[in-house]
Amino acid sequence: MEIELRLVPKDRRRPVPELKNLVFGRLFTEHMFVMEYDCKRGWHSPRIQLYQDLTLDPAAIVLHYAQTIFEGLKAYWGVDGKIRLFRPWENVKRLNRGAERLCMPQVPEDLLLEAIKKLVLVDQAWIPREKGAALYIRPFMFGTEPSLGVKPSHSYLLLIILSPVSAYYQEGFNPVKIYVTEEFVRAAPGGTGEVKAGGNYAASLKAAEVAHKRGYTQVLWLDAVERRYVEEVGTMNIFFYFEDELVTPALSGSILPGITRDSVLHLTREWGLPVSERRVSIEEVIEGVETGRLKECFGTGTAAVISPVGALCWRDQEYLINQGQTGPLARRLFDELTGIQYGEKEDPFGWTIVLD
Ligand SMILES: *Cc1c(COP(=O)(O)O)cnc(C)c1O
Repeated sequence: MEIELRLVPKDRRRPVPELKNLVFGRLFTEHMFVMEYDCKRGWHSPRIQLYQDLTLDPAAIVLHYAQTIFEGLKAYWGVDGKIRLFRPWENVKRLNRGAERLCMPQVPEDLLLEAIKKLVLVDQAWIPREKGAALYIRPFMFGTEPSLGVKPSHSYLLLIILSPVSAYYQEGFNPVKIYVTEEFVRAAPGGTGEVKAGGNYAASLKAAEVAHKRGYTQVLWLDAVERRYVEEVGTMNIFFYFEDELVTPALSGSILPGITRDSVLHLTREWGLPVSERRVSIEEVIEGVETGRLKECFGTGTAAVISPVGALCWRDQEYLINQGQTGPLARRLFDELTGIQYGEKEDPFGWTIVLD
């Protein structure tokens, strides 16, 4: 299948605004990718066209039953003037795992990756040039069939939209404070926690609201069964650096398998650190704070790369980690990953693709 280019003529393009101090996910580029699916034709009409409103039947399945999944990755403007993507095939494969889980059709992986690359090149003028800033890429798909019956849709739309984003750390690489919730859970075994399904995020809003009201920026999620084992922090995976071991919760079925998480595991194993993917209880974390065995804690995800955790609140008590400061491991990982993404450091694992 060929991707049709229905581009805005160059002399009629919208001027690119100044790409500074952007609020995440509010500004979008001039074009988007669209592809349609129906049972008879399968995927068809892939095209890059003007970014514009969609028309949907009010009974479209996605609006009622959340049959929708998404991905998130970035295009980086390198120090050498080259545009890079970071492990984009992992996003493509994860989207298809999500499609499987939500009874949606598989997307041709080569076509999706080609669509991402082409769209980024078309709107490359919208990639911010400073280090830390990037063009956020949001592929997503959803069921469009008008039906109030609870069943998989017979028709789908897949889109890719692009949003320039500023550096996540505008005021320095500072730690966040997190709130351990025992009241709410993000995902349960057998549920959809391990895929980027829209409904997961709707279900997480209440806990985030409670955390914000209490002065915390993120929620620390515990497992749904015992409310004891750590799962994730906000929309990031989490790592604990104990005296003799770097630990991240093992993928249990309710944890999102982050690409940044996987990259951190590769790098730290390469560096010779003892690394475990295992269960880690909130009691072990608190005890680690009290005895000094816990040296650092940080979240990992595409948006922030590494997000140091400086304090956590559990059962109305606040615990400081590394005196509320960013630790050396978090900083080293941040420098290494962003160094690879912006073409400043060697890419020994072949994680990046250069677009040209
Ligand atoms: C996207 C996401 C992550 C991080 O995944 P990356 O591939 O590293 O960006 C972690 N947890 C949740 C819940 C997510 O949605």
